[in-house]
Amino acid sequence: AKREGGAALRFFDRAMQTQVIERAHLEADLERALDADQLRLFYQPQGDAAGVTVGLEALLRWEHPVRGMVSPGVFIPLAEEGGRIVAIGNWVLEQACHQLAHWADQPARCELTISVNVSPVQFREAGFVDGVREILAATGADPRRLVLEVTESLFLQDPKLARETMLALSALGVRFALDDFGTGYSSLSYLKRLPLDELKIDQSFVRDLLASPADAAIVETIIALADRLSLSVTAEGVETEAQAAWLRDHGCRHFQGYLFARPAPLVSGKEPLPGLPS
Ligand code: C2E
Ligand code: CA
Ligand code: CA
Ligand code: CA
Repeated sequence: AKREGGAALRFFDRAMQTQVIERAHLEADLERALDADQLRLFYQPQGDAAGVTVGLEALLRWEHPVRGMVSPGVFIPLAEEGGRIVAIGNWVLEQACHQLAHWADQPARCELTISVNVSPVQFREAGFVDGVREILAATGADPRRLVLEVTESLFLQDPKLARETMLALSALGVRFALDDFGTGYSSLSYLKRLPLDELKIDQSFVRDLLASPADAAIVETIIALADRLSLSVTAEGVETEAQAAWLRDHGCRHFQGYLFARPAPLVSGKEPLPGLPS
């Protein structure tokens, strides 16, 4: 039994070692991904209660030459650790702002917003505000059409810095959405101190909405809270008509999820979007 245990341990060691090496390879590949033109931006439409597209969320994809599509859930943490997220995040902002500027003279699309996920690492970089200002100026995008999605974790580490950065960006006209709302550990007091425009109900609450009274209660409370604070609410991960109907009945006015539309690339910028004339 002792020998077997030793063998199992050696096997385990080797598996761990393989994982560490895998990770190092992926990290090295990620260093080159931007320059090698392997990053893509997908856009997922967000709709209003009438089924009209009002905005899109930009979602990053990595087209790895050997591994195929690598999920942002895998490579964003790596990019954050290596500091690569700053350059990648700037690239995402540039792409999104170009898209906004491109739509500015299309009557059916000039009112659309684009939401961009911002990593806390990127947000806390000293040059972040100036970087956003430069990208807005260089692309000519309307700052009011740009929504930065931040998470509660941002307010945990250095709330003062987070607030100052948000106020500076907000002075430029940029808007803020609080992503994955309700999944973090911070208190609610920041809701009144920060220039927020939108709460996004995390998909973990939407998933079991109809089966779980607890999830339903949480979602109802988030909608009521947002209402009282004059924030807009977007439900994420809406997959079924029944979920959408419940959310509509309970006063949620914005929807994102596979039911409305899947994330997809925009090539010409003239791609059809739900509820909009082409
Ligand atoms: P997130 O910001 O919460 O984005 C929503 C995720 O839910 C996306 O996953 C989206 O594809 C997925 N989704 C949308 N509708 C549905 C649905 O109806 N059902 C289900 N099951 N899923 C749905 P994705 O694209 O894999 O992105 C994962 C996470 O990676 C994002 O979560 C975000 O935190 C991060 N991420 C993506 N792009 C960027 C980026 O440009 N910068 C940073 N810093 N993070 C990013
Ligand atoms: Ca998001
Ligand atoms: Ca989210
Ligand atoms: Ca999420």
